[in-house]
Amino acid sequence: MTPPTALIIGGGVMGLSAARGLARQGWRVTLLDQDPLPNPRGSSHDQHRLIRHAYGAEQGYMAMVDQAFLAWDRLWAELGACHYLPTGVLAVAEAPGGWLAASRAALRQAGHAVADLAPDTLPARLPMLTAAGLADAFHTPAGGVLLADRILASLVRLCAGLGVSFRQARVVALDPEQGRVRLVDGSTLAADLLVVAAGPWLPRLLPARPVRASRQVVVMLQPPAALQAAWVAAPMLLDLANDGGFYAVPPVAGTSLKLGDHRFAPDGDAEETRDASPAEAEAILALARRRLPGLEHYRVLEARACYYDVTADERFILAPLGGRGWVMGGFSGHGFKFGPLLGEALAAAVADPALGALLPAWAAGLAPPPPGLLASGA
Ligand SMILES: Cc1cc2nc3c(=O)[nH]c(=O)nc-3n(C[C@H](O)[C@H](O)[C@H](O)COP(=O)(O)OP(=O)(O)OC[C@H]3O[C@@H](n4cnc5c(N)ncnc54)[C@H](O)[C@@H]3O)c2cc1C
Repeated sequence: MTPPTALIIGGGVMGLSAARGLARQGWRVTLLDQDPLPNPRGSSHDQHRLIRHAYGAEQGYMAMVDQAFLAWDRLWAELGACHYLPTGVLAVAEAPGGWLAASRAALRQAGHAVADLAPDTLPARLPMLTAAGLADAFHTPAGGVLLADRILASLVRLCAGLGVSFRQARVVALDPEQGRVRLVDGSTLAADLLVVAAGPWLPRLLPARPVRASRQVVVMLQPPAALQAAWVAAPMLLDLANDGGFYAVPPVAGTSLKLGDHRFAPDGDAEETRDASPAEAEAILALARRRLPGLEHYRVLEARACYYDVTADERFILAPLGGRGWVMGGFSGHGFKFGPLLGEALAAAVADPALGALLPAWAAGLAPPPPGLLASGA
Protein backbone atom coordinates (compact mmCIF):
# COMPACT_ATOMS: atom_id res chain seq x y z
CA MET A 1 0.00 0.00 0.00
CA THR A 2 1.28 3.49 -0.82
CA PRO A 3 2.08 5.35 2.39
CA PRO A 4 0.24 8.62 3.07
CA THR A 5 2.26 11.74 2.34
CA ALA A 6 2.97 14.76 4.54
CA LEU A 7 4.45 18.15 3.74
CA ILE A 8 5.91 20.02 6.68
CA ILE A 9 6.70 23.71 6.40
CA GLY A 10 9.46 24.62 8.81
CA GLY A 11 12.46 22.75 10.16
CA GLY A 12 12.71 24.18 13.69
CA VAL A 13 12.17 21.99 16.73
CA MET A 14 8.43 21.77 15.97
CA GLY A 15 8.64 20.82 12.30
CA LEU A 16 11.46 18.36 12.92
CA SER A 17 9.61 16.79 15.83
CA ALA A 18 6.44 16.48 13.75
CA ALA A 19 8.50 14.94 10.93
CA ARG A 20 9.98 12.41 13.34
CA GLY A 21 6.57 11.54 14.78
CA LEU A 22 4.92 11.12 11.38
CA ALA A 23 7.82 9.23 9.80
CA ARG A 24 7.77 6.77 12.70
CA GLN A 25 4.08 6.18 11.99
CA GLY A 26 4.74 5.31 8.36
CA TRP A 27 4.10 8.65 6.66
CA ARG A 28 6.25 9.65 3.70
CA VAL A 29 7.41 13.05 4.88
CA THR A 30 8.89 15.97 2.97
CA LEU A 31 10.12 18.86 5.09
CA LEU A 32 10.43 22.26 3.41
CA ASP A 33 12.49 25.07 4.86
CA GLN A 34 13.50 28.32 3.26
CA ASP A 35 16.93 28.10 4.91
CA PRO A 36 19.56 25.39 5.36
CA LEU A 37 19.05 23.33 8.52
CA PRO A 38 19.69 23.74 11.36
CA ASN A 39 18.55 27.30 10.70
CA PRO A 40 20.38 30.04 12.65
CA ARG A 41 17.48 32.42 11.92
CA GLY A 42 14.94 30.08 13.52
CA SER A 43 13.53 30.56 17.03
CA SER A 44 14.84 27.14 17.96
CA HIS A 45 18.46 27.89 17.21
CA ASP A 46 20.70 28.76 20.15
CA GLN A 47 23.15 27.10 22.47
CA HIS A 48 20.49 26.51 25.10
CA ARG A 49 16.82 26.43 25.95
CA LEU A 50 15.42 25.99 29.45
CA ILE A 51 13.00 23.42 30.82
CA ARG A 52 11.40 23.89 34.23
CA HIS A 53 8.14 23.19 36.04
CA ALA A 54 7.67 26.68 37.51
CA TYR A 55 4.89 28.25 35.40
CA GLY A 56 3.14 30.73 37.70
CA ALA A 57 -0.51 29.72 37.97
CA GLU A 58 -0.45 27.94 34.58
CA GLN A 59 -1.03 24.45 35.96
CA GLY A 60 -1.76 23.00 32.52
CA TYR A 61 1.70 23.85 31.22
CA MET A 62 3.30 22.85 34.52
CA ALA A 63 1.73 19.40 34.18
CA MET A 64 2.76 19.21 30.53
CA VAL A 65 6.41 19.58 31.58
CA ASP A 66 6.29 16.10 33.15
CA GLN A 67 5.13 14.71 29.81
CA ALA A 68 7.78 16.77 28.05
CA PHE A 69 10.56 15.21 30.14
CA LEU A 70 9.27 11.74 29.19
CA ALA A 71 9.22 12.72 25.52
CA TRP A 72 12.81 13.99 25.78
CA ASP A 73 13.80 10.67 27.38
CA ARG A 74 12.28 8.84 24.40
CA LEU A 75 14.29 11.07 22.07
CA TRP A 76 17.54 10.52 23.99
CA ALA A 77 16.95 6.76 23.82
CA GLU A 78 16.41 6.94 20.08
CA LEU A 79 19.48 9.14 19.57
CA GLY A 80 21.68 7.17 21.94
CA ALA A 81 22.77 10.53 23.39
CA CYS A 82 21.39 12.97 25.94
CA HIS A 83 21.59 16.72 25.31
CA TYR A 84 20.17 17.84 28.65
CA LEU A 85 22.01 19.15 31.70
CA PRO A 86 20.10 19.41 34.98
CA THR A 87 20.83 22.67 36.79
CA GLY A 88 17.84 23.28 39.05
CA VAL A 89 16.01 26.60 39.18
CA LEU A 90 16.53 29.65 41.37
CA ALA A 91 13.66 32.15 41.22
CA VAL A 92 13.95 35.49 43.02
CA ALA A 93 11.58 38.43 43.35
CA GLU A 94 11.63 41.94 44.76
CA ALA A 95 8.12 41.69 46.21
CA PRO A 96 6.14 38.88 47.80
CA GLY A 97 3.26 37.42 45.81
CA GLY A 98 3.01 37.50 42.03
CA TRP A 99 4.44 34.89 39.66
CA LEU A 100 6.87 33.48 42.21
CA ALA A 101 4.21 32.84 44.85
CA ALA A 102 1.81 31.40 42.27
CA SER A 103 4.53 29.05 41.02
CA ARG A 104 5.42 27.94 44.53
CA ALA A 105 1.79 27.16 45.38
CA ALA A 106 1.20 25.26 42.13
CA LEU A 107 4.45 23.31 42.44
CA ARG A 108 3.72 22.28 46.02
CA GLN A 109 0.15 21.27 45.17
CA ALA A 110 1.49 19.01 42.44
CA GLY A 111 4.07 17.46 44.77
CA HIS A 112 7.21 19.04 43.30
CA ALA A 113 10.13 19.78 45.62
CA VAL A 114 10.49 23.51 46.33
CA ALA A 115 12.87 24.97 48.91
CA ASP A 116 12.17 28.47 50.20
CA LEU A 117 15.35 30.49 50.54
CA ALA A 118 16.01 33.56 52.67
CA PRO A 119 17.31 36.08 50.12
CA ASP A 120 20.17 37.24 52.34
CA THR A 121 21.63 33.71 52.36
CA LEU A 122 21.96 33.64 48.57
CA PRO A 123 25.34 35.36 48.08
CA ALA A 124 27.04 32.81 50.35
CA ARG A 125 25.78 30.03 48.04
CA LEU A 126 26.05 31.95 44.79
CA PRO A 127 28.86 34.51 44.96
CA MET A 128 27.90 36.14 41.64
CA LEU A 129 24.65 37.49 43.16
CA THR A 130 23.65 40.32 45.42
CA ALA A 131 20.49 39.98 47.48
CA ALA A 132 19.90 43.72 47.56
CA GLY A 133 16.22 44.51 47.15
CA LEU A 134 15.08 40.86 47.15
CA ALA A 135 11.99 39.87 49.12
CA ASP A 136 11.49 36.25 48.12
CA ALA A 137 13.36 33.30 46.62
CA PHE A 138 12.91 29.60 46.00
CA HIS A 139 14.91 26.75 44.52
CA THR A 140 13.66 23.68 42.71
CA PRO A 141 16.03 20.81 41.99
CA ALA A 142 14.22 19.79 38.78
CA GLY A 143 14.83 21.70 35.56
CA GLY A 144 17.82 22.48 33.43
CA VAL A 145 19.34 23.24 30.07
CA LEU A 146 18.48 21.63 26.75
CA LEU A 147 21.44 22.02 24.38
CA ALA A 148 19.34 23.35 21.55
CA ASP A 149 21.78 23.52 18.65
CA ARG A 150 22.98 19.96 19.34
CA ILE A 151 19.37 18.78 19.55
CA LEU A 152 18.45 20.36 16.22
CA ALA A 153 21.45 18.83 14.45
CA SER A 154 20.60 15.44 15.95
CA LEU A 155 16.95 15.72 14.91
CA VAL A 156 17.92 16.52 11.32
CA ARG A 157 20.12 13.41 11.21
CA LEU A 158 17.49 11.27 12.92
CA CYS A 159 14.75 12.39 10.53
CA ALA A 160 16.97 11.75 7.52
CA GLY A 161 17.57 8.26 8.87
CA LEU A 162 13.80 7.78 9.17
CA GLY A 163 13.44 8.60 5.48
CA VAL A 164 12.30 12.23 5.74
CA SER A 165 13.17 14.17 2.56
CA PHE A 166 14.53 17.66 3.12
CA ARG A 167 14.10 20.38 0.55
CA GLN A 168 15.22 23.99 0.77
CA ALA A 169 12.34 26.05 -0.62
CA ARG A 170 10.30 29.05 0.44
CA VAL A 171 6.54 28.56 0.62
CA VAL A 172 4.58 31.66 -0.38
CA ALA A 173 0.99 30.41 -0.28
CA LEU A 174 -1.01 27.61 1.34
CA ASP A 175 -4.16 25.74 0.41
CA PRO A 176 -4.82 23.53 3.43
CA GLU A 177 -8.15 22.34 1.97
CA GLN A 178 -6.24 20.66 -0.85
CA GLY A 179 -3.00 20.02 1.05
CA ARG A 180 -1.21 22.21 -1.47
CA VAL A 181 1.56 24.81 -1.21
CA ARG A 182 2.97 27.25 -3.74
CA LEU A 183 6.71 27.83 -3.69
CA VAL A 184 8.49 31.09 -4.45
CA ASP A 185 9.44 29.79 -7.93
CA GLY A 186 5.73 29.35 -8.76
CA SER A 187 5.72 25.55 -8.59
CA THR A 188 3.28 23.68 -6.36
CA LEU A 189 3.50 20.65 -4.12
CA ALA A 190 0.66 18.65 -2.60
CA ALA A 191 0.29 15.97 0.05
CA ASP A 192 -2.34 14.20 2.10
CA LEU A 193 -1.32 16.25 5.13
CA LEU A 194 0.12 19.74 5.47
CA VAL A 195 1.81 20.81 8.72
CA VAL A 196 2.63 24.49 9.12
CA ALA A 197 5.40 24.96 11.71
CA ALA A 198 6.77 28.27 10.50
CA GLY A 199 7.75 29.80 13.86
CA PRO A 200 7.89 33.60 13.78
CA TRP A 201 7.21 33.60 10.02
CA LEU A 202 3.71 32.30 10.77
CA PRO A 203 2.14 35.79 10.58
CA ARG A 204 3.37 36.00 6.98
CA LEU A 205 1.88 32.64 5.96
CA LEU A 206 -1.33 32.76 8.04
CA PRO A 207 -2.03 36.45 8.68
CA ALA A 208 -5.52 35.75 10.05
CA ARG A 209 -4.08 33.83 13.02
CA PRO A 210 -3.55 35.95 16.18
CA VAL A 211 0.22 35.39 16.19
CA ARG A 212 2.88 38.10 16.03
CA ALA A 213 6.66 38.11 15.82
CA SER A 214 8.39 39.53 18.89
CA ARG A 215 12.05 40.55 18.76
CA GLN A 216 13.96 39.26 21.80
CA VAL A 217 17.59 40.05 22.50
CA VAL A 218 20.04 37.75 24.28
CA VAL A 219 23.57 38.57 25.42
CA MET A 220 26.29 35.92 25.65
CA LEU A 221 28.99 36.51 28.24
CA GLN A 222 32.14 35.02 29.66
CA PRO A 223 32.22 35.44 33.45
CA PRO A 224 35.43 36.59 35.15
CA ALA A 225 37.77 33.66 35.90
CA ALA A 226 37.09 33.91 39.64
CA LEU A 227 33.35 33.28 39.06
CA GLN A 228 33.48 30.81 36.18
CA ALA A 229 33.28 27.64 38.28
CA ALA A 230 30.46 29.06 40.40
CA TRP A 231 28.51 29.96 37.27
CA VAL A 232 29.02 26.52 35.69
CA ALA A 233 27.55 24.93 38.82
CA ALA A 234 24.78 27.52 39.26
CA PRO A 235 21.06 26.93 38.78
CA MET A 236 19.25 28.79 36.03
CA LEU A 237 18.26 32.16 37.44
CA LEU A 238 14.81 33.72 37.00
CA ASP A 239 14.91 37.26 38.37
CA LEU A 240 11.42 38.78 38.64
CA ALA A 241 12.23 42.41 39.31
CA ASN A 242 9.25 44.74 39.68
CA ASP A 243 10.06 46.79 36.63
CA GLY A 244 11.41 44.13 34.31
CA GLY A 245 13.32 41.01 35.20
CA PHE A 246 15.82 38.86 33.34
CA TYR A 247 16.92 35.25 33.18
CA ALA A 248 20.43 33.81 33.23
CA VAL A 249 21.42 30.47 31.71
CA PRO A 250 24.57 29.02 33.29
CA PRO A 251 27.50 28.21 30.98
CA VAL A 252 27.11 24.43 31.12
CA ALA A 253 28.82 21.95 28.78
CA GLY A 254 31.14 24.52 27.24
CA THR A 255 28.39 27.02 26.38
CA SER A 256 28.36 30.74 27.20
CA LEU A 257 26.57 32.40 30.07
CA LYS A 258 23.40 33.86 28.53
CA LEU A 259 21.22 36.72 29.70
CA GLY A 260 17.83 37.57 28.28
CA ASP A 261 14.44 38.97 29.20
CA HIS A 262 10.81 38.18 28.53
CA ARG A 263 9.39 41.59 27.62
CA PHE A 264 7.67 41.46 24.25
CA ALA A 265 8.24 43.70 21.23
CA PRO A 266 5.47 42.12 19.14
CA ASP A 267 5.66 44.46 16.16
CA GLY A 268 8.63 42.55 14.73
CA ASP A 269 9.19 40.74 11.46
CA ALA A 270 11.17 37.51 11.35
CA GLU A 271 12.94 38.76 8.23
CA GLU A 272 14.75 41.50 10.20
CA THR A 273 18.44 41.23 11.10
CA ARG A 274 19.54 38.99 13.96
CA ASP A 275 22.32 41.44 14.86
CA ALA A 276 21.51 43.25 18.10
CA SER A 277 22.42 46.90 18.40
CA PRO A 278 24.60 48.12 21.28
CA ALA A 279 21.49 49.79 22.74
CA GLU A 280 19.55 46.51 22.62
CA ALA A 281 22.40 44.68 24.36
CA GLU A 282 22.68 47.41 26.98
CA ALA A 283 18.95 47.14 27.74
CA ILE A 284 19.50 43.49 28.78
CA LEU A 285 22.71 44.20 30.69
CA ALA A 286 20.98 47.03 32.58
CA LEU A 287 18.34 44.58 33.87
CA ALA A 288 21.06 42.22 35.14
CA ARG A 289 23.43 44.81 36.58
CA ARG A 290 21.67 45.28 39.89
CA ARG A 291 21.60 41.52 40.56
CA LEU A 292 25.09 40.65 39.24
CA PRO A 293 27.61 43.03 40.80
CA GLY A 294 30.75 43.61 38.75
CA LEU A 295 28.98 42.85 35.48
CA GLU A 296 31.42 45.24 33.79
CA HIS A 297 34.11 42.59 34.36
CA TYR A 298 32.22 40.00 32.31
CA ARG A 299 33.29 39.80 28.65
CA VAL A 300 30.46 40.30 26.17
CA LEU A 301 30.92 37.58 23.53
CA GLU A 302 27.87 38.29 21.40
CA ALA A 303 24.49 39.99 21.46
CA ARG A 304 21.81 38.96 19.03
CA ALA A 305 18.12 38.85 18.39
CA CYS A 306 15.80 35.89 18.17
CA TYR A 307 12.06 36.01 17.45
CA TYR A 308 9.22 34.63 19.50
CA ASP A 309 5.93 33.85 17.74
CA VAL A 310 3.49 35.14 20.34
CA THR A 311 -0.23 35.12 20.93
CA ALA A 312 -1.70 37.64 23.39
CA ASP A 313 -2.02 35.06 26.17
CA GLU A 314 1.08 33.01 25.25
CA ARG A 315 -1.05 29.92 24.66
CA PHE A 316 0.08 27.49 21.98
CA ILE A 317 -1.85 26.82 18.80
CA LEU A 318 -1.81 23.14 17.83
CA ALA A 319 -4.91 22.86 15.74
CA PRO A 320 -6.43 21.53 12.52
CA LEU A 321 -6.15 23.87 9.55
CA GLY A 322 -8.58 23.48 6.68
CA GLY A 323 -9.36 19.97 5.52
CA ARG A 324 -5.85 18.58 5.37
CA GLY A 325 -3.70 20.80 7.51
CA TRP A 326 -2.44 21.32 11.03
CA VAL A 327 -0.82 24.42 12.42
CA MET A 328 1.78 24.50 15.19
CA GLY A 329 2.45 28.02 16.44
CA GLY A 330 2.25 30.69 19.11
CA PHE A 331 5.13 29.13 21.03
CA SER A 332 6.33 32.40 22.53
CA GLY A 333 9.36 31.98 24.78
CA HIS A 334 8.36 28.58 26.11
CA GLY A 335 7.86 26.19 23.20
CA PHE A 336 11.21 24.45 22.81
CA LYS A 337 10.86 22.23 25.87
CA PHE A 338 7.65 20.80 24.38
CA GLY A 339 8.98 20.12 20.85
CA PRO A 340 9.28 16.31 20.98
CA LEU A 341 6.05 15.99 23.00
CA LEU A 342 4.04 18.10 20.55
CA GLY A 343 5.56 16.29 17.56
CA GLU A 344 4.46 12.96 19.02
CA ALA A 345 1.05 14.40 19.88
CA LEU A 346 0.50 15.71 16.37
CA ALA A 347 1.43 12.38 14.81
CA ALA A 348 -0.99 10.60 17.16
CA ALA A 349 -3.75 13.12 16.46
CA VAL A 350 -3.71 12.81 12.68
CA ALA A 351 -4.15 9.06 13.09
CA ASP A 352 -7.04 9.47 15.53
CA PRO A 353 -9.55 12.28 14.89
CA ALA A 354 -11.15 11.87 18.34
CA LEU A 355 -7.78 12.54 19.92
CA GLY A 356 -7.18 15.38 17.47
CA ALA A 357 -10.32 17.15 18.63
CA LEU A 358 -8.97 17.28 22.19
CA LEU A 359 -5.47 18.43 21.32
CA PRO A 360 -5.98 22.21 20.87
CA ALA A 361 -7.25 22.79 24.45
CA TRP A 362 -4.48 20.64 25.93
CA ALA A 363 -1.78 22.42 23.91
CA ALA A 364 -3.25 25.75 25.03
CA GLY A 365 -2.61 24.67 28.61
CA LEU A 366 -6.34 24.63 29.33
CA ALA A 367 -7.14 20.92 29.59
CA PRO A 368 -5.53 17.73 30.87
CA PRO A 369 -3.86 15.43 28.35
CA PRO A 370 -6.37 13.59 26.19
CA PRO A 371 -6.77 9.97 27.33
CA GLY A 372 -4.39 7.74 25.42
CA LEU A 373 -2.03 10.51 24.40
CA LEU A 374 0.93 9.30 26.42
CA ALA A 375 0.41 5.73 25.38
CA SER A 376 0.32 6.67 21.70
CA GLY A 377 3.35 8.92 22.04
CA ALA A 378 5.50 6.27 23.66
C1 LIG B 1 15.54 34.19 22.86
C2 LIG B 1 14.63 33.01 23.00
C3 LIG B 1 14.67 32.26 24.17
C4 LIG B 1 13.82 31.17 24.34
N1 LIG B 1 13.93 30.42 25.47
C5 LIG B 1 13.17 29.31 25.60
C6 LIG B 1 13.37 28.45 26.72
O1 LIG B 1 14.22 28.71 27.58
N2 LIG B 1 12.58 27.36 26.82
C7 LIG B 1 11.63 27.04 25.89
O2 LIG B 1 10.96 26.02 26.04
N3 LIG B 1 11.45 27.83 24.80
C8 LIG B 1 12.20 28.94 24.63
N4 LIG B 1 12.05 29.74 23.54
C9 LIG B 1 10.98 29.43 22.58
C10 LIG B 1 11.34 28.34 21.61
O3 LIG B 1 12.69 28.43 21.21
C11 LIG B 1 10.40 28.41 20.41
O4 LIG B 1 9.07 28.37 20.90
C12 LIG B 1 10.59 27.23 19.47
O5 LIG B 1 11.95 27.05 19.16
C13 LIG B 1 9.79 27.46 18.20
O6 LIG B 1 10.13 26.46 17.27
P1 LIG B 1 9.49 26.42 15.83
O7 LIG B 1 9.94 25.16 15.20
O8 LIG B 1 8.04 26.69 15.93
O9 LIG B 1 10.08 27.71 15.06
P2 LIG B 1 11.49 27.95 14.32
O10 LIG B 1 12.60 27.31 15.06
O11 LIG B 1 11.58 29.40 14.07
O12 LIG B 1 11.34 27.19 12.95
C14 LIG B 1 10.50 27.67 11.93
C15 LIG B 1 11.15 27.32 10.58
O13 LIG B 1 10.18 27.57 9.58
C16 LIG B 1 10.86 28.02 8.43
N5 LIG B 1 9.90 28.76 7.59
C17 LIG B 1 9.13 29.77 8.01
N6 LIG B 1 8.38 30.25 6.99
C18 LIG B 1 8.70 29.49 5.91
C19 LIG B 1 8.26 29.49 4.56
N7 LIG B 1 7.34 30.35 4.13
N8 LIG B 1 8.79 28.57 3.71
C20 LIG B 1 9.72 27.69 4.15
N9 LIG B 1 10.19 27.66 5.41
C21 LIG B 1 9.67 28.54 6.28
C22 LIG B 1 11.94 28.91 8.99
O14 LIG B 1 12.99 29.11 8.06
C23 LIG B 1 12.36 28.17 10.25
O15 LIG B 1 13.50 27.35 10.03
C24 LIG B 1 12.89 30.83 23.33
C25 LIG B 1 12.85 31.58 22.14
C26 LIG B 1 13.71 32.65 21.97
C27 LIG B 1 13.64 33.43 20.69
